[in-house]
Amino acid sequence: MKITALVSKALERQFLTDIAVPWVLDILKLLPLDDLQILPKQGSRNSINGSYSWGAGLTLSINAGRKRSTWGGTLIPGSSWSVSTAGTSKRLAMLRTFVHELGHHIHLHDQPVRGGRASQLSQRVDAIVGVAFVRSRGPITMYGQQSAREFFAESFAAYMFERAALQQHDPVAFKMVVDVLAARGLTVR
Ligand SMILES: [Zn+2]
Repeated sequence: MKITALVSKALERQFLTDIAVPWVLDILKLLPLDDLQILPKQGSRNSINGSYSWGAGLTLSINAGRKRSTWGGTLIPGSSWSVSTAGTSKRLAMLRTFVHELGHHIHLHDQPVRGGRASQLSQRVDAIVGVAFVRSRGPITMYGQQSAREFFAESFAAYMFERAALQQHDPVAFKMVVDVLAARGLTVR
């Protein structure tokens, strides 16, 4: 995996240490990224905290210069903007965003980008997500309401950082995460 870090060595080291937990390393071993980017800012007006792209290459980007307004909240199920904005520090918010993007990677890495044929496994995974998005009676965050993809990524981040709240607030999403991990053959802590 290539690492593209456009930030200080100290910040790069801190972030790579934060994500180097066994379950993350196991997932990255089974589903390698092509490029992990640690950026000083992202998006027009620095409005993007992270992104994931697939197809030509599997690239996960994290904004290490995210705005002060994007962390420090408390998770209020159903009304917080995102799991990452409920991180209590910039460092924890970056970690939460990384796990959200890792959720996209788990869901989407083998989905056809345009018009290609999806494998049976990728169709099964996408169906689990699509059905749960329709059945959920209330995604854990506002961002998770935007699309089936954000629903999965937010639910996955909540599963890792706010598991009891996810199970209580959105049991459909909780089961979706369990089912997708099982379909992918992945184990998390
Ligand atoms: Zn997302």
